[in-house]
Amino acid sequence: MLLIPCPLCGKRSESEFIHGGPVGADRPDPNAVSDAEWVDYLTVAPNPLGPVQEKWWHARGCGEWLTIWRDTRTHDIVEAPDGIK
Ligand SMILES: [Zn+2]
Repeated sequence: MLLIPCPLCGKRSESEFIHGGPVGADRPDPNAVSDAEWVDYLTVAPNPLGPVQEKWWHARGCGEWLTIWRDTRTHDIVEAPDGIK
């Protein structure tokens, strides 16, 4: 089980969080991209191997959004907000 360090609550079980996806490109303007690009944005999630910067929502806790760096090979959190690990 992954323990995610919330800056307000400390380390909590991943079951209290909802994965918000990787930090990446901003939402494109649907009127400025092709249909294929829009479908890719909506349906293709990047899944790189190695450290990934991700957003997590402490939905069953304080409600805070946080950003962590997680290594997808090991699930280790390699960098967390405010130095909490
Ligand atoms: Zn929290």
